[in-house]
Amino acid sequence: MRNVVIIGSGCAGNTAAIYTARANLQPLVISGHEAGGQLSLTTLVENFPGFPEGIMGPELVENMKKQAQNFGAEYLHGAVIDTELTTRPFRLNVEGEWIETRTLIIASGASARWLGLPNEHKLIGHGVSSCATCDGFFYRGKKIMVVGGGDSAMEEANFLTRFGSEVSLVHRREEFRASKIMLDRARHNPKIKFVMNTVVEDVFDTSQQLVTGVRLRNLKTGRIWEQDVDGFFVAIGHIPNTKMFKGQIETDPDGYILSKGGARTNIAGVFHAGDVQDRTYRQAITASGAGCMAAIEAERYLEEEGH
Ligand code: NAP
Repeated sequence: MRNVVIIGSGCAGNTAAIYTARANLQPLVISGHEAGGQLSLTTLVENFPGFPEGIMGPELVENMKKQAQNFGAEYLHGAVIDTELTTRPFRLNVEGEWIETRTLIIASGASARWLGLPNEHKLIGHGVSSCATCDGFFYRGKKIMVVGGGDSAMEEANFLTRFGSEVSLVHRREEFRASKIMLDRARHNPKIKFVMNTVVEDVFDTSQQLVTGVRLRNLKTGRIWEQDVDGFFVAIGHIPNTKMFKGQIETDPDGYILSKGGARTNIAGVFHAGDVQDRTYRQAITASGAGCMAAIEAERYLEEEGH
């Protein structure tokens, strides 16, 4: 029987592990399919406080893990495929093995939705990004492309005009999912060029390990052409990793956990941390802060229960 199990090993999960381990609760962290979370997909992180020269995303998250392990946190490779949270103790099925725990911290994150282009994954962190706040700075004076037609795409395109020499916004339809206000803001931004009814067929150039351009196709005319691009931002939504809690943990219609105040969920003893609940900020530092909150709440909960 575990005191604390943490699902997810990104910033939220690792920070929760540092805090609960220092409180002598010997947490077990289940790493998940994307061990290290979104940071493991980035390169240089320049906005995490404490690193004046910046730090590589994978190194930052690995450091957090080591820090947690130094205080006694255990890590288990694997993913949670099923859960029983309506009875105590909580039960988690990790790839066939059931684990029991008194408290649970859900830090399973939200995965960026990708386009599925042949070269897309090979160039993540080398010009392909899903986070303008994280990576926009690297494209000062460069050509930027954003894909998507929702609020995220509008927000990212607007933000990226601070850096790029030009920002092309590629959307597959004529109509937008984005709210009127966000769309109007983008439309009034002279640096944003709208490319409608168009899909990206692929991104280049894997031989240079760097984004140099894309191939586009207009869905109405069938025209295919190539365009030079330095930064390629995919903003077509995120998918919160909450499938394994379905019907037990309350979520919004998109699957994000509904907070019941602080780090609390609708189930006493189950806490949330990071992007699995946060569709607004999604930053390493906010996820870490949320992991700290969840850890403190789990600690107090166990204390109240007399453990
Ligand atoms: P979204 O609203 O689901 O929009 C996703 C966009 O990506 C859609 O335009 C969709 O096109 C496009 N898309 C999806 N799959 C695609 C594919 N395979 N190829 C090409 N295009 C694809 O997602 P979101 O923009 O991330 O927003 C999610 C939620 O967060 C929304 O509720 C939004 O209002 C909110 N949000 C709010 C703010 C803000 O208020 N500041 C900022 C960001 C997000 P189709 O339209 O053709 O389906």
